[in-house]
Amino acid sequence: MQNPLTPEVLADPVALTRALVDMESVSLNEKAIADCVEDVLRGVPHLTTFRHSNTVMARTDLGRAQRVVLAGHLDTVPLNGNFPSTMRGDLMYGCGTSDMKSGVAFALHLAVTLPDPRYDVTYFFYEAEEIESRYNGLTLVSQAHPEWLQADFAVLLEPTYGIVEAGCQGTMRAVVTTHGERAHAARSWHGVNAIHGAGEVLRRLTAYEARRVTIEGCDYREGLNAVRITGGVAGNVIPDHCEIEINYRYAPDRDPAAAEAHLREVFAGFDLAVTDAAAGAAPGLDNPPAQEFLAAVGAAPIGKLGWTDVARFAALGIPALNFGPGDPNLAHHKDEHVELTKIRDGAATLHRWLASA
Ligand SMILES: [Zn+2]
Repeated sequence: MQNPLTPEVLADPVALTRALVDMESVSLNEKAIADCVEDVLRGVPHLTTFRHSNTVMARTDLGRAQRVVLAGHLDTVPLNGNFPSTMRGDLMYGCGTSDMKSGVAFALHLAVTLPDPRYDVTYFFYEAEEIESRYNGLTLVSQAHPEWLQADFAVLLEPTYGIVEAGCQGTMRAVVTTHGERAHAARSWHGVNAIHGAGEVLRRLTAYEARRVTIEGCDYREGLNAVRITGGVAGNVIPDHCEIEINYRYAPDRDPAAAEAHLREVFAGFDLAVTDAAAGAAPGLDNPPAQEFLAAVGAAPIGKLGWTDVARFAALGIPALNFGPGDPNLAHHKDEHVELTKIRDGAATLHRWLASA
């Protein structure tokens, strides 16, 4: 197959977005698109290119004092009657237009067209972001080649509608279990109803006032919610067991240990077990590349509420933020689309940041 990523396509971020969208790459099917991206990057004299599984990394080595990462995932969620792309006026529709082949197009366009960036740049085109973390290209690289990730600052090109979303909130899941004693429903006074016991858990959740925190000028809004409830034995049995699954989204001034301590405080007196936790990431805007990036964007950053791979970089001590042309509210939707002006403006912003001497 001929590589659709021709020099003319690579020169135009809009055409490049469309070409990338029209290469199907649902998670775990990224080989063909990774082959094309690798093929392009290997032909660029100012880059050194590496590959691990279906993750492609290319870097400049100009001896600059600082190194920045531009990263985007190559995979998409499953198609939903939205492939290949279609155009309607200033909008490009199709799976991955917003999340996040328009962002990937930024990185690939700059990698090819910017031989002399002001920082050394590491470009990541990685696999399997939309599925479990063990498949994630950045997870695999951090295990196999941690040195590839070394940098002073990272920009993840996830959809943010052209603004800077800094850091990200952490997420924790926990199960609160209430206990009772079985009895025949006809003689319920011999038992203790565990489902009724859950009432107090739900009352605490309803009354809970979620915290808002401002960190480095970015607002984070927490959330504590029941997301599932199970209990009951049979239609004539008083239940002895009820489980309420809790999802807690917490601001990045709390680490997972502090988040767990807070949950134990809220549900004091109840049996609580944490089942899953991912740390958030502080905004990390005080380093020079981040400051210069914010100046190039020219608009105040806001806090990222959802968990993203910026937390992976933060865990390695690398401040990271999100910046991409897509609308995050459209990600994973059937009518996912991106505005062409957002693609052009965002590419120009990144170019201004990296090219200015
Ligand atoms: Zn994404």
